[in-house]
Amino acid sequence: MTLYGAVEAGGTKFVLAVGESPEAPREVVRIETSSQPLETVARVIRYFEDNGPLAALGVATFGPVDFASGSITTTPKAGWQDFPLRDALAQALHIPVGFDTDVNGAALAEARCGAGKGLDDLVYFTVGTGIGGGVLTGGQLVHGLMHSEMGHLLVRRAPGERDAFRGVCPYHGDCLEGMASGPAMEARWGVKADQLPSGHDAWRIEADYLAQACVNVACVLSPQMVVLGGGVMNQSHMLERIRGRARELSNGYLPLPRIESPALPYPGLTGALLLAREAAR
Ligand code: ADP
Ligand code: ZN
Repeated sequence: MTLYGAVEAGGTKFVLAVGESPEAPREVVRIETSSQPLETVARVIRYFEDNGPLAALGVATFGPVDFASGSITTTPKAGWQDFPLRDALAQALHIPVGFDTDVNGAALAEARCGAGKGLDDLVYFTVGTGIGGGVLTGGQLVHGLMHSEMGHLLVRRAPGERDAFRGVCPYHGDCLEGMASGPAMEARWGVKADQLPSGHDAWRIEADYLAQACVNVACVLSPQMVVLGGGVMNQSHMLERIRGRARELSNGYLPLPRIESPALPYPGLTGALLLAREAAR
């Protein structure tokens, strides 16, 4: 059997796995993301040397990234600006490396073997410490000038919002991430999002922003499905709230995409295995 390696690279942790098939990542380990990229990369290399040999590696990473150089670019994560992650791994392991954003990887994974199995047009959002979005359209991951950055969609104020919350995005203030990420909820309400009871008005407001995001991507990309993952979506009542609010916002004009939770335990990691398999071809 051919063995592939997968890296889901995040600002707090790297998740590593190997697998013969994307559906079954195994030997999953987590390592802390050091402020010294070469230190983290050395641990990644050691793990794959110990668990190989691999036919190819897939990397689904935090960004922003530049695909020409395979680098992470303007991240606020200390030490990682302009770090050439793809080539650092390819040169040490001497194998092909598939490289994309974490959310593009997750979109690919949910479309190939998750909630949207068999779909060619799917958008994946993660709503966590930040908000990110990945796009698969016509079966292809979207890159373009760089890649989608749908966390920074510009949104309008939720109705009935009693405060004048300015938002937490250092660049835009009140963009989607500025208004609806986990840290935005904490800054607005003074408690962590997971401490807010399900009946709290915070969730109506949160659902409004995420519904705006769903309707906006429906207008631009017309995906068949939008998958909403990330820590803040670990609230069982949210999916139905967002679906309802999206229907209200689109007001019968558009056929809306299905709005679903991820079906995979590790969408980004599974995406990385799929990227590895494509890189090996
Ligand atoms: P990251 O984005 O750092 O990869 P997560 O997707 O887990 O990690 O998102 C972390 C954010 O999700 C934090 O702001 C945290 O407060 C929030 N969060 C975690 N669990 C829950 C929960 N059950 N309900 C609401 N928010 C949560
Ligand atoms: Zn922003």
